[in-house]
Amino acid sequence: MVLTILKPNFKNSKTPEPESPPISISPETPPPPPPPPIETPNITTQIPNYLSYPDIIKQLKIWNEEAPRLTEVGVYGKTSRGQDIYFIRVTNEHTDLALNDQGNGIWNVEPKSKVLVTGCIHGNEPHSTATIMAYIGSMLASYGKDDKITSLIQGREIFFVPVVSPDSYPRSRYVDGVDPNRDFENKRSAPIREVQKFFLQHKFDAAWSGHTWGRVFLYPWGKSMTPCPDDAVYREVMDEVAQLCQYRLIRACEMYTSNGLNNPPIRYGMPGWGGGEFRPIYGTEMDWYYGHGAFAVVCEYGTHQRIPSHSEIESEFNRTFKGFLYFLEKAPLAINRPN
Ligand SMILES: [Zn+2]
Repeated sequence: MVLTILKPNFKNSKTPEPESPPISISPETPPPPPPPPIETPNITTQIPNYLSYPDIIKQLKIWNEEAPRLTEVGVYGKTSRGQDIYFIRVTNEHTDLALNDQGNGIWNVEPKSKVLVTGCIHGNEPHSTATIMAYIGSMLASYGKDDKITSLIQGREIFFVPVVSPDSYPRSRYVDGVDPNRDFENKRSAPIREVQKFFLQHKFDAAWSGHTWGRVFLYPWGKSMTPCPDDAVYREVMDEVAQLCQYRLIRACEMYTSNGLNNPPIRYGMPGWGGGEFRPIYGTEMDWYYGHGAFAVVCEYGTHQRIPSHSEIESEFNRTFKGFLYFLEKAPLAINRPN
C-alpha cells in the first residue's frame, strides 16, 4: 500500500477549508509492507520418539528446513566435553508481525515477549526433553491451522533448549561433579554458566523448565518459606495451568515436605525427613530466573525417570499441551520486570 500525502494549497483561496488534523506520518518511516500470507509448514515428525542427543540436533535441523520462516537453530554454549548446546527459536521470522483480535496480521511496534523452555538440566530426566520436543513439532505443524498457536508464534519468541546438560544426558543427574540445579549461585558447571549467559543476553520474560517426575509444578521460592512478592499472580496463572494439565501446584520450598513431591511415596531417602518441615533448596534455576525478572516455573513431568516409550511421550504431551500454551500466553505478561 502506498500512502500519498497531499499538501493543501491555500495560496489563492480567501476562505480556506477548515484544516483536517495533521497527518503524523514522518517521511523517513515509510508504511510497512503488507503482512506475508500465513502458510502452514509441512512437518513430517510432530511427536518424535525418545532421541539421543545427536538425533535431537538432527531433528531440530529438519524442523528448521521444514519451517524456515518460523524457526532458527543455534548454539549458545559448550559443555566441558566440548559438546555444543543447541536451541531452537520459534517465532514468526517477520519479527514485527502480530495478530490482532480479529486474527488479521498487523504490524506491532511492541517487542515480542521472550520465553525460555528447557529440558534435562538434570540429564537423567529424558521424559522432560521428549515432551518438550513434542511441543515444538506440534506447534510448528499447527501454525496457520490453530488460531491460538498461530497467534502465540506470531506474538512470542520461544527459545526451546531440549537438553541443557548434554554431557550427562540421558544418564546422570550430575554434571561436572555437581547438581546443576543447585549450582546457580556457585556456577561450577559449564552448562549453568552457559545458560545464565544465554538468559542474560535475552532477558527472558518467562521460563518453563522441564524435569521428572511427579506431575507437579513448582514455583518460587525454593530458598525461602516466605511467599515471593508475586505469589498471588503465580497462583492466578499457575492454578489454571495446573488444572489444565491435571498436575498439582506447590512452591519449590515445599518439595521435601509432606505436601511435596514425596507425598506419597517418599521419593528420596531424606535423612531426618519428618514430613511438614522446611527443607530449603538453594541455587536453583527457578529462583535465579525469577530473581532476574522472569516468571519462572518447574514442570515435573510424568511418573518416572526412565527413557519414555512413544505412548508415554504422547500421553504426557496430550495431558500438558493446553496448559503449556496457556503459560506461553499469560506468564510473560504476568509480572513486571525490574529495570
Ligand atoms: Zn530434575
